[in-house]
This record gives sequence, C-alpha cells and structure tokens, in this order.
Amino acid sequence: MSPRFARFTRKKLLLDVQLVMITVMRSSRALRLLQTGTRISHTTSQAPRRVVAIRNGYCSACEPAPPQPSDVKRRYDRPKSHKKPKNPKEPEAAPDHRHLGIEQELFTTSIYSPGSPIFLPNGTRIFNKLTDFLRTQYEHFGFQEVITPTIYKKSLWEKSGHWENYAEDMYSVTGRGASGEKEGRQIGEDEEYGLKPMNCPGHCLIFASKQRSYRDLPIRFADFSPLHRNEISGALSGLTRVRRFHQDDGHIFCRPSQIREEISKTLEFVKLTYGVLGLGPYRLALSTRPKDTFIGTVEEWDNAEAALRESLVASEQPWTLNEGDGAFYGPKIDIILKDSDGKEHQTATIQLDFQLPKRFELEYQAPAPEIEQKGLTTDDAELLSVQGPVTPVLIHRAVLGSVERIMALLIEHHNGRWPFWLNPRQVKILTVNDQQETLDFVKKVVQDLQGYDPPSTDGEGRGLGALGAGLVRGNRLSIDVDDSPRGLNKKLSEAKNQRYGVIIVVGARNVESNRLTVDFSAIPNYRYDIRESKLLNNLLVAHKEAKLERDARYPNWGTHWAPADEEFASQDGDPAPRKLSHEELKAFEITARTLRKVLNGFQTSYV
Ligand SMILES: [Zn+2]
Repeated sequence: MSPRFARFTRKKLLLDVQLVMITVMRSSRALRLLQTGTRISHTTSQAPRRVVAIRNGYCSACEPAPPQPSDVKRRYDRPKSHKKPKNPKEPEAAPDHRHLGIEQELFTTSIYSPGSPIFLPNGTRIFNKLTDFLRTQYEHFGFQEVITPTIYKKSLWEKSGHWENYAEDMYSVTGRGASGEKEGRQIGEDEEYGLKPMNCPGHCLIFASKQRSYRDLPIRFADFSPLHRNEISGALSGLTRVRRFHQDDGHIFCRPSQIREEISKTLEFVKLTYGVLGLGPYRLALSTRPKDTFIGTVEEWDNAEAALRESLVASEQPWTLNEGDGAFYGPKIDIILKDSDGKEHQTATIQLDFQLPKRFELEYQAPAPEIEQKGLTTDDAELLSVQGPVTPVLIHRAVLGSVERIMALLIEHHNGRWPFWLNPRQVKILTVNDQQETLDFVKKVVQDLQGYDPPSTDGEGRGLGALGAGLVRGNRLSIDVDDSPRGLNKKLSEAKNQRYGVIIVVGARNVESNRLTVDFSAIPNYRYDIRESKLLNNLLVAHKEAKLERDARYPNWGTHWAPADEEFASQDGDPAPRKLSHEELKAFEITARTLRKVLNGFQTSYV
C-alpha cells in the first residue's frame, strides 16, 4: 500500500467512523422528519426580530421548518397489511426512509457532496412522477412554469435582504479570475455570486421585466429549481435535512382584492394533492400580524387577514389561529399534516409578503390606485379616470414544500407498497424459458406496453411513425424484464419481494395465444380497490362471452386461439357488475395492447 493510499484509507476510515457515529446519534427519530408538535413560536425568539423573521419565518416555500425533538416517538401510518412482528410483544420498528431508500435503491449520498441526495433511477422516477403530477395540475390552477438561474450576484441578494439576514446560510460563488469585488455603486462584472436558497427574487425579476396592468393579474410562476442552503454538517440527514433540495415553488403576484380567491385556489390545490398522495388528514393554521414589528399599514394587514379567514372558512377544513405569529412581512397559513398516531408535520405554507414587492419596486398600473392598493373598489368615475402605479401582493406558496421531504414522508408512509402510479417498479415481465421465440415475444410486448410506434411503410404515415421508430406520447410505464435462465419460482419471489405492482409471466403458451398472464394482485388498494375495476371486469366478461360463442360455433376449436384486440373494444357497458375474485386478478389473460390501456388508466387516475 502506498503511503498516500494508506493516508487516504485512514482518512476515509475516520470519516466512516464519524458518519456511523452521527447515524447512531440520530437513529432516534429526532431529526428524521419535521414536526410542528411543540414548536415554539419563531417570533418569540430572543434574536433581533427582523433577522429571526426572515431566517425562521418559513417564507412559504422559502424555508423548511427545523426538526423537532418531539419527533422521537413518532411512528408512521402504515398500510394495514404489513407483516406483524414475530414476537407480538416486540414493537414493530418504524419505517425509516433512509433505510428504505437503500433497500429500494431510491437514493444515496456521498461524502463528496454532503447533504445533497443523489437520486438513483428508482428515486428519480418517483421524483419525476410527483413533479409531473404537479405540472399537470398547473394547467388547471393557472401556473406558468419558469426556469431561473442558480447563481445571482451579491447585489440581488442585497436588494432582497438575503445578504443581510441570510448570508451565513448561503453558498457564495466566485468565478475564475473574478476578484469578488463590487465596482463602486455599479453592479460589477467581478462581483461575488450567491447560490440561491429560494426562488422569490428571481420571480420578482420576471415580474419587473415588463410593464404590468391590473388586467394581467394574477400572474403565477412555478419553479422546480434546485435550491442550496448551507446547513451545518451535523444536522444533515437522509432527505429531510439537506443542503440541496427542490421545492414545488410558486409565487403569485396579485391585486390586493384578489388575495381571497388566490388563497382559496391554493387551499383547493393542497386538498387535491394530499388526497391523491393519500396523506392526511391535515389542519390549517393562520398566523396573524405580530404585535410590534411589521411592515405595511394596519389596514393592509386587516384586509389581508380577513381575506385569509374567509378562504379558510370557505375551505371547510379545520383550522386554528396563531395570533401574532405571522412573519413581519405578512400573514401566513401553515399546512400541518397529521399521521395515524396523531403526530403533526408542517409541510407547506402559504405566505403573504408585503415587503419583497416593495424592495424590488414592483408595480402594476390600475385606475384609482389608492383605492386599488387597499383592496377596495369604487364606482367613482373621477377617481377611476386616474391611472397610477400599485404595488402587487406577493404570495409565496408550495403545495408539497420540499419535494425531498415529502418523498421521505411518502417512502415511510407506503413502506414499499407504492400505489401503482408512484411505484418505481411498476411492471416486471418474467420468462418461463429462454427460447428465442419467447425473448422476441417479450420484446414486442414491451414495445406494445410502452406505445412504440413502428416506422410507417404504407406511405400514408405521418409524424413519428413516418420519421422513424419511437415511442408515442403518453404515460411511460416502468417495465423491467427478467429473462435470466433461473427457475420461475425464484424469479417470482424476487419480483414480489421487490414489490412490483404488476407481474407478467411469459411462456410458450403465451407466445402461441398472443395473450399475457398478468398478476394484478400486488397493486395496493389505498384509494381504489382494483377488484372493483369496471374495465377489468368487462374485459373478463367479454373474453368469456367470446369464448362461449366460439365454443358453440366451433366445438372442436381446441384450447389455443389468438383473439384480436377488437374483441375487447366494448368497455363502456357493464355486463355483469361484481367484484373480481383474487384468483382472477392473479392470472388475468389479456393482450399487451389492452393491458397498456388498463395500466394507463391506473396511471392517469393516480391509482
Ligand atoms: Zn418565496
């Protein structure tokens, strides 16, 4: 061993020991997930109020809440079917997303970038499914996605107030050859840069990039940019205490009179999302104007708070009041998720901000600007004849909050039994033999399931098929194939242990009949019992009816036959509504193209 290598190994060993010690110290659930349980109001901290409000104000999206020691005893809501501990007296270990992350090959970390999770292919699939879901909803909720820089000059962070109050949590970046100095009052080329800890200033720049009229508002920007915050290394843990993370960040620039509607829409978005994710119940907490230090007028605050209250009442969700607990720059609503043990986790915040638009001198033109600024309306023609600048209200909002943190919650909540749409292991195809015919058939099945469009040969082809071979639009399925020359039982038990949602077995009989034998029974039924699937039921009935008809006409047909896809075209009717039996679900005979329709149906309805 070379001395250099020995030094490296010793150093690595030392690091490993340190890491293990940190892990042991944190193996209590203390620092695992965020809790609001006994959180002390951040505005009652002894530090100077202004600093505290920015640093601990949890500006929506902008700052995740710190972990709480009350997390120690928490246990997660787990699907009922999980295995009971062997000894009933032994308490079942609570699922830990860090262990599950390794077991399910979701993410890893490296000493070369502490606190920056490295998502593996399976984890990336979940991450993308979550962001795809939100992107789909953005169409409905009127958000426009933007892509913004990761580094900005120090001047910007000075303007936003971050450099003054947040600098120690930010990474600074200096370009090669740059002195890092500012050139007088100008924004210098040589300036130091900061890695962004939040997206708000960037979105303010977009708002300011052109003239805005009251008719343009509300304007809603969404951003999935990675964010960096320089957390102390001892606090780093799994996906919950990280230095690099993503938010489903959104900023709404609206007229003061639009606050109520925007909050209501955001609460609706939250309700929809948590319903789809199967998380909850949750409660909402309104934090109002601090007693002493706040910016803006009391009237502005009163109007904004009244709008928030009205939205909360209209939401018909339970909510509580944290009097005087708002940040100095605006009132907010926290979303507090409750697990099955009654423990609470703060996930997202809807934060009003009167300050940032002023710092960035944002404005829009409106008639009767003074009345407009108060969120009121007038019919006075004289007042309305005067146009003038009005400062928009900024609403920071994130529905998931940190995508990494919500993934940690989901990983522990589902404990390997992912709903089909989120499952990184959706379909596994197992071969019974390794004959070329079987392998070719499997290849064709994968193409059919993925919506492969073969090159067009008839001269009439358009689009993708005319250009070459590729996949047509639609939801991609995660399909893996096991064609190893091992015994089927071994392959089956491995696929089951890996929690594949759908397992397909392909043997000579399948190749001949052009039908797959599909096991749907591993799809968990948190929100939807697959045994009640009308589509599958109708397919089964249509299949049986066709078989009966054929047997009546051709008594000597035999057992082998290859039905066409059209046979299953009729899916609208409901010939015999009933629950499918477990046996039927475990060995469902279906063609690949029809299976694609079924699985896409599950995906798009977030089953
Ligand atoms: Zn923000």
